[in-house]
Amino acid sequence: MRKFAVLLVLLPALLAACVRPTPPPEPEAEVLPALSPAPRGAGERLRVVATTTIVGDVVARVGGDAIQLTVLLPPGADPHTYEPTPADLTAVARAHVLFVNGLGLEGFLERMLRNVGDVPVVPVSAGIQPRLLEEDEDEGEEEESHARGEADPHVWLDVRNVLIWVENIRQALSALDPAHADRYAANAAAYRAELEALDAWVLEQVARVPPRNRKLVTNHPVLGYFADRYGFEQVAAVYPISPGAEPSAREIAALVEAIRQFGVPAVFAETTVNPKLAEQVARDTGVALVTLYTDSLGGPGSGVESYIDLIRYNVNAIVSALK
Ligand SMILES: [Zn+2]
Repeated sequence: MRKFAVLLVLLPALLAACVRPTPPPEPEAEVLPALSPAPRGAGERLRVVATTTIVGDVVARVGGDAIQLTVLLPPGADPHTYEPTPADLTAVARAHVLFVNGLGLEGFLERMLRNVGDVPVVPVSAGIQPRLLEEDEDEGEEEESHARGEADPHVWLDVRNVLIWVENIRQALSALDPAHADRYAANAAAYRAELEALDAWVLEQVARVPPRNRKLVTNHPVLGYFADRYGFEQVAAVYPISPGAEPSAREIAALVEAIRQFGVPAVFAETTVNPKLAEQVARDTGVALVTLYTDSLGGPGSGVESYIDLIRYNVNAIVSALK
């Protein structure tokens, strides 16, 4: 009897010791809002605003010349840390619809929406089950608790997710502007065929990288969906959470160690994030620094003026750095 009582007292402690820490909750997927036709004057086109250059490019492909499109972020701007301008607020306040990536990518979104009244907001990533932002598993007590359960917003780097964007955009535009539903459907179908060919091309290209080299170190953790789809591993990032959160000296030291340990041949920097730390890490480890277009298209003349350009550019850069 006494033994049994002791066991009862110890049981919770024993269980706690055996049970692994609870995994963070699955991040929630975005949901499409219910939309009804937007009232407009005769000959007035649907006024559409998109946040990032990448969302804007895909919306432009589905909307074609049936919509009047404004894109808020200029090429090269970082969506995580962007601050909207007064002109942005005016454009959103006058819009029939605002297309966003969602999943927390646009750090400015909530604040901006408080200042513009009622505009329907369509997260193009609706219905995509987001992956969890990676965390350093051996950080222990210094773990950033705010990252728990947070979604990785960079869904577009898996081309198949942009097929889902296209369908969400088509649905939203058709609900707001049923008169042009056939045009939106035809534009979406044509673009979908290009995206399917693009996805097949990526699979073909990445096959040239030997499996032992398929390790990605980036400035911020942007290639998770890319890695999952195309058979790579995102092993580390200079800014492990987001470009808004500066890494500590200890985190940088751990990163340098990881690069040496994994024998990673290159570090990838993103055009939207200050490359200073990545340059230092590349120098300290003697590996190449290669720039990718991840969170934004390039400006006019950059050769990366569309989403399809962006994927082609990045895949060529990754394959030649790692093959
Ligand atoms: Zn990003």
